[in-house]
Amino acid sequence: MQNRSTPEDFDVVIVGRGPVGAALANLLGLCGVRTLVLEREARTYHLPRAVHFDDECMRVFQTIGLADAILPHVILSPGMLFLDADGQLLLDWSRPQTLTPMGWNLSYRFHQPDLEDVLIGGLTRWPHVTLRSRCDVFALDQDETGVRVRYEDLSNGQLREVRAGYVVGCDGARSLVRRFIGSAMDNLGFHERWLVIDVLLKRDRDDLGNYSLQHCDPRRPATYVRGTGARRRWEITVLPDEDSQVVAQPEKVWELLSRWITPDDAEIERATVYTFHSVIARQWRKGRLLLAGDSAHQTPPFLGQGMCAGIRDAANLAWKLATVLRERADASLLDTYQSERLPHVREFIELAIRLGGVINTKAIEAGLAAGEARANAPVKLEVKKPLLGPGLALGDLPLVGHLAPQFSLSNGNRSDDRIGYRHVLLVETEAALWTHLRCALAQVEVEILTSDDAEGITPWLREHGIIAALVRPDRYVRGAARNDPELGQLVAAVIPPTHVPSAA
Ligand SMILES: Cc1cc2nc3c(=O)[nH]c(=O)nc-3n(C[C@H](O)[C@H](O)[C@H](O)COP(=O)(O)OP(=O)(O)OC[C@H]3O[C@@H](n4cnc5c(N)ncnc54)[C@H](O)[C@@H]3O)c2cc1C
Repeated sequence: MQNRSTPEDFDVVIVGRGPVGAALANLLGLCGVRTLVLEREARTYHLPRAVHFDDECMRVFQTIGLADAILPHVILSPGMLFLDADGQLLLDWSRPQTLTPMGWNLSYRFHQPDLEDVLIGGLTRWPHVTLRSRCDVFALDQDETGVRVRYEDLSNGQLREVRAGYVVGCDGARSLVRRFIGSAMDNLGFHERWLVIDVLLKRDRDDLGNYSLQHCDPRRPATYVRGTGARRRWEITVLPDEDSQVVAQPEKVWELLSRWITPDDAEIERATVYTFHSVIARQWRKGRLLLAGDSAHQTPPFLGQGMCAGIRDAANLAWKLATVLRERADASLLDTYQSERLPHVREFIELAIRLGGVINTKAIEAGLAAGEARANAPVKLEVKKPLLGPGLALGDLPLVGHLAPQFSLSNGNRSDDRIGYRHVLLVETEAALWTHLRCALAQVEVEILTSDDAEGITPWLREHGIIAALVRPDRYVRGAARNDPELGQLVAAVIPPTHVPSAA
């Protein structure tokens, strides 16, 4: 029984149960890590923010076993069109409606509170994960053995404390954990006030369309997004001389919306002015304190990548935390989290800023240069996923640091479901793997998938001129091998010296 004077002990305390904290808690649940989530609010933040996520995020949701629960809450997005002040198409960012190599669609629309409810509901599956709502964290003191986390239970005003091996601040833009880390923010230069209006349609307005539209009109740049169900969103620039309070009043909101809809068509769910920022924290880890999600980076929403970046943080961090906590790696493994994730998120934020320059018409040419110019057709945009920054990459083959595809297994299942949240070695045939290495890989929980399991593996390996690829739990390629000696080196790199058996 717990001694009353001894604080409860957790491996990880997550501050904040937004989408990033909830995703991270599910991933840690999957890894068997004793986790406490502390959240100030009583329930999910009810007002919508994110409306789009991508195929990589859906793959993370698949990993935590929640993709099927999320699917009923999403619709596929056909993409985004950028129109000039005369309605002429400037930039075409259509998305294919077919599955991508991730095994999912490229672009989903959703309602953030629906997604958060599923992620939070998923936590009940893990007996070693505890969620405490209405708990406001106010102090963190770390020493060599752990962190003392102090919080107020807002339901009764009691001050409480727990101990944690690590604390992850998923506590949003005004992060307390970031303040305890003492990190400054790098300012990438884009800060604009936008009025975000969500409406619920009262009658069909199919003419509004399914594409997101960027009205790149210097008089008043604006965005339209089709949401799920009856939801539709407009994001409208607030002009420098306008008061944020005044512009969000219903009368003004309807005036701004009048070119698209009237009160006969819809009711306003909310109208709020946000300042879209572009900032990245300089330091994501200090000893036992870490940041993930908006606490570490914020982007203008033009690419729909803010939350997606946070979900990627969670997928990158959770298995590293679990590995360190199991004493299978030194704590310095956690430094690869920032070094890998920061350049990746920075590239997305910089692209969002470039597109912002098309939308606000201040840098149209520079923004359009991000796409592919075509004769007698608008510029076509295709967004390539950035590479991971330097960290755990083994070797310098071009594939390393990219996402590996998800394969269809011969039994019809998806390969990630078989692999779980673990490393996998993709290899043409088992014969290519010496028996002793296979045993060693099993001991360190590295799965092996061959072309017998999924016939897509061989063509993919051959396309890249390799015979094997080592893929991390977050599905990024950690290393690749062109021949048997390189395969031996690859395997040796993930097997601790104590596990390497003799080849005899
Ligand atoms: C208008 C708009 C549109 C957007 N569109 C998109 C989009 O289409 N796609 C996309 O990917 N992203 C989008 N985003 C961004 C996305 O909403 C955020 O990136 C995402 O919500 C960040 O999640 P988070 O979990 O890091 O932080 P948050 O969602 O902010 O959650 C932080 C949580 O921490 C809690 N907390 C804070 N301090 C404490 C404390 N001291 N103690 C206890 N709890 C605490 C808070 O109560 C909160 O629940 C958009 C954002 C906006 C504003």
